[in-house]
Amino acid sequence: MDRQACLVRDEADPLRSLREQFDLPDGVIYLDGNSLGVLPRATAGRIADVVTREWGTDLIRSWNTAGWVDLPQRIGDKIARLIGAGPGQVVAADSTSLNLYKVLNVALDLADAAAADGGATRRVVVSERSNFPTDLYIAQSIVSRRGMELRLIDSPADIPGALTDEVAVLMLTEVNYRTGERHDMAGLTAAAHAAGVLTIWDLAHSAGAVPVDLLGADADFAIGCGYKYLNGGPGAPAFVWVHPRYAGRFRQPLSGWLGHAAPFAFDTAYEPAEGISRYVCGTPPILSLSALECGVDTVLAAEPLGGMAALRAKSLALTDLFIALVDALPAELGVGVVTPRDPARRGSQVSLTLAPPRHEAAYAVVQALIARGVIGDFRAGVPGDLAAQPHIMRFGLTPLYLSFAQAFDAVAHLREVLETQEWRQERYAVKGAVT
Ligand SMILES: *Cc1c(COP(=O)(O)O)cnc(C)c1O
Repeated sequence: MDRQACLVRDEADPLRSLREQFDLPDGVIYLDGNSLGVLPRATAGRIADVVTREWGTDLIRSWNTAGWVDLPQRIGDKIARLIGAGPGQVVAADSTSLNLYKVLNVALDLADAAAADGGATRRVVVSERSNFPTDLYIAQSIVSRRGMELRLIDSPADIPGALTDEVAVLMLTEVNYRTGERHDMAGLTAAAHAAGVLTIWDLAHSAGAVPVDLLGADADFAIGCGYKYLNGGPGAPAFVWVHPRYAGRFRQPLSGWLGHAAPFAFDTAYEPAEGISRYVCGTPPILSLSALECGVDTVLAAEPLGGMAALRAKSLALTDLFIALVDALPAELGVGVVTPRDPARRGSQVSLTLAPPRHEAAYAVVQALIARGVIGDFRAGVPGDLAAQPHIMRFGLTPLYLSFAQAFDAVAHLREVLETQEWRQERYAVKGAVT
């Protein structure tokens, strides 16, 4: 596990050419692709072309001639290839939060319809306390408007037991944003269906990071993020998938004109488009979607090299290496690995903690690493419950562009920051608005 061995692995890495798709700054080891993916080389030129030619010269004609109007579906079809969905089943639109608002409402309408047909009255949405807050906030808003309950589970092991006949929907993020723990999507979906419960999967930390098989798992709804592993750029549009058995039934609540069956008929009455297209709301953001397409293409570029399976193999090799190197750090540094060691239960990130008395240093350690060009991030623990929900130092290991030598160097930097106590410098305690 020395650096030389890592260089040898990099030489033999069948995916190493994929790194050339990006212009990464010199001296940076980027371990935050799980939060903001890197800039593809193609994006700046593509955006310039959309701006100067498609918009500047062709003007409004581009809605037809450049295919702007179909961009949500065209990019949706590309994302579908990464998440085990079929063509015509995904659209790229809006944010993850908004797409969750759409599908959770539809899932609850479906549960209501089943109850009206003589099924159980189901008034509960089940999720995890450690789910990403925006998912919980959107769900809180929906359940309070509908007079329902959001029931939060503390441990993944307790989820199957929580699927009673009071439950309408199981809403989970497949890979936990703090811990990097991955759920068994197929197993939990089967358990949910056996209990008459619908499933919503948030793929924010899955799409482009781990192989996802929505149709194989028989999931009901999925949403996900464009700016993380899909490299779509800051605030990139998100995506939404609805199983074909439901996509053409029920109206999602944000019934905007571009989800209409015939937007340019300008009818006064809303008539939803066929299938997933009804999940588009207003005018697609063409500049953002164009950047997203470049990002999705960087992941699809792995298809001739083995696709998501090959990316997953490298991702696990990288996270295995990172974990082994952290385990080999001197015990007195107090670094602990939170992410599951079982590869099947791991996403593409490794989350670390610091044992007391250094517990609170996690933020400053991440800042000191960033100053050295090793960019990870920090996620605050739960005050008063730091034993169960500690401060987290998060490191995303993105197989598209990270090398084994970089993973090795990152842990070497971590060791130096801790051993020299460099993190104690005052400037590393200053908190920005975004951590
Ligand atoms: C990143 C992330 C989001 C982001 O939602 P936005 O609406 O794009 O801000 C939502 N859910 C999860 C689980 C995430 O990781």
